[in-house]
Amino acid sequence: MDVFDDALARVARIGAGAGVTPEVLDALRQPKAVLAADLPVRMDDGSTEHFLAYRCRYNDALGPTKGGIRYHPDVSRGEVMALALWMTIKCAVVGLPYGGGKGGVIVDPKRLSPRELERLSRAYMRAMADFVGPTTDIPAPDVYTNARIMGWMADEYETIRREKAPDVITGKPIALGGSLGRDEATGRGAFLVIREYAKRVGLEPAETRVAVQGLGNAGYHVARLLQQAGYRIVAVSDSRGGIYSEEGFDVESLYQHKQQTRSLQAVYCEGSVCELVEHKAISNEELLELDVELLVPAALEGVVTPGNVGRIRAAAIAEVANGPVVGEADAALSERGVVVLPDVLTNAGGVIVSYFEWVQNRQGYPWTLERVRGRLEDRISGAFDAVWKVHQTEDVPVRDAAYRVGLRRIAEAIESHGTREYFAGD
Ligand code: NAD
Repeated sequence: MDVFDDALARVARIGAGAGVTPEVLDALRQPKAVLAADLPVRMDDGSTEHFLAYRCRYNDALGPTKGGIRYHPDVSRGEVMALALWMTIKCAVVGLPYGGGKGGVIVDPKRLSPRELERLSRAYMRAMADFVGPTTDIPAPDVYTNARIMGWMADEYETIRREKAPDVITGKPIALGGSLGRDEATGRGAFLVIREYAKRVGLEPAETRVAVQGLGNAGYHVARLLQQAGYRIVAVSDSRGGIYSEEGFDVESLYQHKQQTRSLQAVYCEGSVCELVEHKAISNEELLELDVELLVPAALEGVVTPGNVGRIRAAAIAEVANGPVVGEADAALSERGVVVLPDVLTNAGGVIVSYFEWVQNRQGYPWTLERVRGRLEDRISGAFDAVWKVHQTEDVPVRDAAYRVGLRRIAEAIESHGTREYFAGD
């Protein structure tokens, strides 16, 4: 099933049991607006290449839309809309005054030179400058975009507007108004969610083997923090494949090595860190099917499907990526008692600290790292409590509980803007 149809089907299924009116569910069936734009970019050899770009503002009942920009060859209109719908639910689950949005460019960024990447990023912001804005739609980084790219985009927006507007985009370099702690925020938030879960079910870090798919921004920080807390990281991977060691890896050395060589494959393993530890090379598919206590997909969506769900042996899955488990595989996992800590809660640390960045920009008052981390912890534990309570009292899987919390908040906002219910009796 197409990723957007799958996302819609999940909202419809969970919404029906959440006590949300059909009128509210109707409002969530399509995005508020999607802008598609051609980005002509001058390449270093003098030629011009065209890249197709999207920005979707899905629903803004709770506030301006918020969501990352992805650079990837597989970006599509449907993927951007699904990601924007998930952002809508996520911001509501963790109680942010935001709706959901998302953007993307169909491009393989690894093929571009740094200058071509800068021209592409500036072209994106030129195309979207009337669609985004500090009180309408606030972008951020996602897969294969980072602080430097956000900095170029902020600069382009300010050049167009002829004024400073650091609050138009988050995940910026610190020097341009970025927040301390934003780089680690998604991984730290996920770590805090896993910690809350471990407390509830009595999971012992030393007895918990963890497999992490995707050692990028989100995956690296969650793996690092889990390891520091005593968990055993037995497998990691990137787009080119993975490595496995029953003994467990030192995440920091692996990551530093990957930064130097750009691939875990180079760590496979002459004269490098993993010579220190017995390991074997595995594929990304094998990583998903390992016998571990905790599986952490932290790369792309759609990796656990009806095709492989029967072979998943992990006792729990923490969705650090957006949408790694497709809706069609939900039922099979809950029937087998596999606990899924859903993306809309588990990876919300990123948008929470993006919200803090936006608040700091609007106040013109930067926070300390301690303040950022403390407030992130408060928000995550509050959101986890609310979701866990619904999970227990309404006897539904954790994903359904999170969606129920989010959908009810969105419903309240939509109804306050005015629906048939609101006007009943007039
Ligand atoms: P990133 O670009 O920093 O890292 C992506 C990682 O995934 C890289 O290590 C890459 O090698 C790996 N990868 C790519 N294709 C793969 C494949 N087919 N199999 C295995 N690994 C593959 O991106 P990121 O920001 O860490 O985002 C990862 C996921 O987390 C995405 O789903 C994203 O939407 C989600 N997420 C990110 C943030 C954030 O703040 N960065 C916030 C919330 C959710």
